[in-house]
Amino acid sequence: MLVIMKDHASASDIQHVVDLLTEAGAEAHLSRGEIKTIIGVIGDREVMYSLELGGLPGVEQVIRVLKPYKLVSREFQPEDTVVRAGGSSVGGGAFATVAGPCSIESEAQVLETARAVKAAGATMLRGGAFKPRSSPYAFQGMGVEGLRLLRAAGDEVGLPVVTEVLDVRDAETVATYADVLQVGARNMQNFMMLDELGTMAKPVLLKRGLCATIEELLSAAEYVLKGGNRDVILCERGIRTFETYTRNTLDLGAVAALRQLTHLPVLVDPSHATGRRELVAPMCRAAVAAGADGLMVEVHPDPEHARCDGPQSLTTTAFAELMGDLAARVALEGKVSGGVL
Ligand code: PEP
Ligand code: MN
Repeated sequence: MLVIMKDHASASDIQHVVDLLTEAGAEAHLSRGEIKTIIGVIGDREVMYSLELGGLPGVEQVIRVLKPYKLVSREFQPEDTVVRAGGSSVGGGAFATVAGPCSIESEAQVLETARAVKAAGATMLRGGAFKPRSSPYAFQGMGVEGLRLLRAAGDEVGLPVVTEVLDVRDAETVATYADVLQVGARNMQNFMMLDELGTMAKPVLLKRGLCATIEELLSAAEYVLKGGNRDVILCERGIRTFETYTRNTLDLGAVAALRQLTHLPVLVDPSHATGRRELVAPMCRAAVAAGADGLMVEVHPDPEHARCDGPQSLTTTAFAELMGDLAARVALEGKVSGGVL
């Protein structure tokens, strides 16, 4: 941590900061310039931050140099984490394509989608059974019956299944059906949920919060790893900005940054990021080029009649075309679809 003192801060103000730090067991290293004094601090992170030095007389700014996460960082583990789920892998050169409807609506809908995405080369099947909707009056998902249909469709076509845990009380139930437990954007900082999933033996797909910074996403992932569960997949799904033409703004810079900062695999969800079907394919191509370890794409056999997110869902035909186009691009990045176990 660095404490930047105001121009010409008095000797007593500087000494006061140094005294507080020393009392708290930290080392203070002074760098005195003609105008400014900067105090470099070495010591326990949490203790240093709890001192709230920013409000003291003569202090201009406190800069946190240490990262608030450790286990997820590249420094801690230089090699990529490979997450395995039901015969499919992601990370470390294994490229995942998670495809399926926004929500599970019927046995026929999920089965038709599962067959189509499997035939097109998807490596995991997605589908929401518990849906986080902006309006409490909108379709909330089929619940446990939806989980059962998703599992059955996945088993039928031979794909692992991914679905969202909306409430920590449902975590055990969802885990009995799903191969990968999704934490939605609105729950990224639900720390009780992250703690609970950290104790479970199923991979977690953690979506970036609508207004979450990269550091906050990594700190949320750190909670899961700290609980003992090392199998976390991150997902960039667009963030809130002033732009309204797209549903969110796809932050591809974050994808490249995450690949450098963390060993965890990073997926891109261009469906929720753009909210527009016609933008999904170009953003998939961009995501592959940005270094993503996989994609999450909403696919529906009849998007016009979808109960949720139809405008951003690809038809099964469009998804097959997209997969054909992506194959060479994924190979160019040195990645293998579905990965080697
Ligand atoms: C989803 O993937 O079904 C979903 C609701 O996405 P998000 O949490 O990113 O909005
Ligand atoms: Mn959706």
